[in-house]
Amino acid sequence: MNDILLLSLTELKRKLDRGEVSSTDAVKACLNRIDETSGLNALITVTAEQALARAAAFDRGELKGSLAGVPIIVKDNISTAGIRTTCASRMLENYVPPYDATVVKKLYDAGAVIIAKANMDEFAMGSASQNSYFGGVKNAVDSRRVPGGSSGGSAAAVAAFQAYAALGSDTGGSIRQPAAFNGVVGFKPTYSTVSRYGLVAFASSLDQIGPITRTVEDAAAVMNVIAGHDALDSTSADIDYPDYTAYDDSLRGKKIGVAEEFFGAGLQSDTGAAIEKKLAAAEAAGAKLVKVKIESFKASLAAYYVLSSAEAATNLARYDGVKYGFRTSKPVSDYVDLYYKTRSEGFGAEVKRRIMIGNYVLSSGYYDAYYLKALKVRTLIKQDYDNALAACDALVCPAAPSTAPLIGARTAPAEVYLSDIYTVPVNIAGLPGISIPAGSDGAGMPIGMQLIGRAFGDRELLGLAVGMARL
Ligand code: GLN
Repeated sequence: MNDILLLSLTELKRKLDRGEVSSTDAVKACLNRIDETSGLNALITVTAEQALARAAAFDRGELKGSLAGVPIIVKDNISTAGIRTTCASRMLENYVPPYDATVVKKLYDAGAVIIAKANMDEFAMGSASQNSYFGGVKNAVDSRRVPGGSSGGSAAAVAAFQAYAALGSDTGGSIRQPAAFNGVVGFKPTYSTVSRYGLVAFASSLDQIGPITRTVEDAAAVMNVIAGHDALDSTSADIDYPDYTAYDDSLRGKKIGVAEEFFGAGLQSDTGAAIEKKLAAAEAAGAKLVKVKIESFKASLAAYYVLSSAEAATNLARYDGVKYGFRTSKPVSDYVDLYYKTRSEGFGAEVKRRIMIGNYVLSSGYYDAYYLKALKVRTLIKQDYDNALAACDALVCPAAPSTAPLIGARTAPAEVYLSDIYTVPVNIAGLPGISIPAGSDGAGMPIGMQLIGRAFGDRELLGLAVGMARL
């Protein structure tokens, strides 16, 4: 492997700016690596020509910005003008957006070079990246295993050195859990700090875009580009956005909250032990461990699958075969038949399952029992996390209850849903969360540790994560 690929994003940027390496060399090295590791199936579209043209522009001094010349991958549910954006679905197999998502525009404005669109679970529904119309993704550390999901392509690509960073989306853990499974860093920012304009909606009250990188420092550098108020996203926060790289990374005096609910049955022993070890090291470095309670922990997964499916059923109603996307080629008798056949053929099994769950919990007679109740549980979850975070700077827990399973080993939906138990409450509460590498299990598979911060405390959380990653 070309040494240039071993640089972090921050290191590459320094060398690019000093003229020690060219963007063309970096892009070519990534494209070679993409070829060498194509068996991972991490990407849906590679934009080699466009990337090489932009790299050449940087090398001529025509591209400026904090990510100028840096090769980056974007998850395929984030709209890219002129580049197809499939959401890994047959429904959007040939969809080419007429506009860029705000994050993509911001990447371009910062001079970044987009080299590919990443594979994922169809419409970001899944935890293993096996629900893709374009075939499943493999783990970059052990190709017999799943890479996690739904941003499994983004995470595997970064772990396999195909690019220096990738954007993912996280509705219930889709950035953090695949980052954990591949031994890289995944950051889900506070809800509303990164514009969702141009992100194909899954569950709008939970969706957030964020970076997957090889270091925490690199995640902060990407945040400086993608965060910010956007009038095109009505939920976008109009706050003073910080310099995310200007963090305090010392652990001395920092209070780390630990909830015993996080270490109960179902947690793989190697994962539990790795987190305990990190916590002990943090204490030795001057951090204080604080006991907190998250009594709602067990209820969060159920609430998440009710809320996210309800929102998904609504958001996915637009794929009807009329305006854009896939349309059945079978003869149809009327418009209902057109919808029926188009949606039956265009969506995969997991997406259909979510639409059915969503419509069920929203239907009259069940709305109060499921949807309304889940909204109430949401309030309780938010209160639990806010109370806990009033007593500490961040909470620490595993990113997932186990390391990456073998492909095909866990396929029952309820079993797959369990792998999100540590990440979904963070979306429900709208908080920032980050997964950082914390050693490996007996089989050599990476373990991810999650840190959860206060709303809009993203910079502080990144600082703590830098400190913890150093231990
Ligand atoms: N795995 C979760 C789900 O399937 C989360 C997905 C996501 O964050 N996009 O809904």
